[in-house]
Amino acid sequence: MDTKTELRTLRHFIGGDWVGAEDGATFAVLNPLDDSLYAHAAKGTDADMRKAVAAAKSAFPEYKQTLPAERERWLLRIAEIMEERKSELIDCLIDEIGSPIQKALFEFNKGLTMVRAAAGMCRNVRGETIPSDAPGKFSMSIREPLGVVAVITPFNVPLIKNTRLVANALAVGNTVVHLPSEMAPHLSVLFAEIVAEAGFPPGAYNVVSGYGHEIGDDLTGHEDVDFVTFTGSTVVGQHINEICAKNKTPNTLELGGKSPTVILADADLDKVMPLAARSIFMFAGQACIASSRFYVERPLYDEFVKRFAMLVSKIGMGDLRDPATVIAPAISERQRNRIRSHIEDAVAKGATVVAGGEWEGNRCQPTLLTGVTGDMTVCKTETFGPVTSIYPIDSYEEGLQKANDTEYGLSSAIFTKDIDKAFHFARNIGAGMCHINGPTIHDEAHVPFGGNGESGVGREGTDADMEAMTELKWVTVQL
Ligand code: NAD
Repeated sequence: MDTKTELRTLRHFIGGDWVGAEDGATFAVLNPLDDSLYAHAAKGTDADMRKAVAAAKSAFPEYKQTLPAERERWLLRIAEIMEERKSELIDCLIDEIGSPIQKALFEFNKGLTMVRAAAGMCRNVRGETIPSDAPGKFSMSIREPLGVVAVITPFNVPLIKNTRLVANALAVGNTVVHLPSEMAPHLSVLFAEIVAEAGFPPGAYNVVSGYGHEIGDDLTGHEDVDFVTFTGSTVVGQHINEICAKNKTPNTLELGGKSPTVILADADLDKVMPLAARSIFMFAGQACIASSRFYVERPLYDEFVKRFAMLVSKIGMGDLRDPATVIAPAISERQRNRIRSHIEDAVAKGATVVAGGEWEGNRCQPTLLTGVTGDMTVCKTETFGPVTSIYPIDSYEEGLQKANDTEYGLSSAIFTKDIDKAFHFARNIGAGMCHINGPTIHDEAHVPFGGNGESGVGREGTDADMEAMTELKWVTVQL
């Protein structure tokens, strides 16, 4: 199969077959470390998308009848094959999207937990019995899969998103059409190979690669798509939301963030510092839940800035296969320009770069800014790079107010020994997730993961996806 040749030519996976684009077109996938050619991938067309939706639709009636034990076995088999093909998946995460090996390993291990947790969903597709006022009437709800689920995923955590969203949709009996990021089609091709080998019937999982802005609407607006789960930027999410609203297609949207971390005067900086660094610089800030705002109570502020700058100067920017390397390349030239412009705009308007700010090839050094004000782009807009701003606060109340001064609402964190303030923060922060004495970057398979406002609509995770990707039907029996 030519998906495994030296320079790969990736194909769509539709109805159990590997096929090129209808018109034979391909696009180049670049290794973000040096922009060298990594692969060619089939450049999907609207006809390809229609074919994939038709395949998923025609597979659905039979697939929804599969037994929980079958789906459970296939999902657990995915995890086994992932372990067998670990080095291929890790290589792909490194060379296709520029993951440092520690991030690739983290993603791989997280992916295993996601798909195993999905296997646990198969036996839990349940309704309930309901008391009835009508004499002799037995009343119940049954939970049914929706049909064809469109899964649209971003470049930054493709394995986590596949193992969560594709697996959760399949677990509860839906079939899937997947549009992976144009930056990361190979990972999803590998995943499709694994899904097929695991035993899923043809048409249950279909992958169409291509440019989202060209073929995305052909998927989200398709009349036979019954649910859309989208992870990506807020601007694309808004567009999809409008299409789904018009067609009344239910959806979840997992979008961008500007997640705050509040550090109060009683926090233990020895414990906070490594977590602070992890919460922004893991994968060079290319995480939706990265902490791009730190609010530090005045008594600790100077010490925090000093220690953070020292720590940052030691963060690894070497070979991506060196376990000491943390900083990844920014994924694309467009993204590099965005990071550059955020730093330059801040500096031009009076911010101070206390660490980093320079580039080494396609990698931006981990960058700390102080003196950031509301008129600077970096203050309110997601950078999606290794850049964070540190602000002094005079009280907990000021920290909460500033943390809430955003249109986003994804993750948040507070470091303090004061349980009252910590819980007050958790209850009053306008974010979908809050971590007390832990970093903003945290995720598990079974938690309600997601955000509010510009960060999205709905939650994902085993329980949330069970709710979202199935429908309750009320059934009565007159006895
Ligand atoms: P992106 O929005 O550019 O692309 C995401 C996906 O959308 C890709 O597959 C792309 O092909 C597709 N797409 C583009 N136009 C489309 C359209 N019109 N219709 C349908 N699909 C379309 O995002 P990205 O650069 O890949 O990822 C980074 C963004 O994702 C950041 O904003 C980040 O915060 C966010 N993100 C959010 C979460 C979360 O769980 N909240 C997780 C990871 C990333």
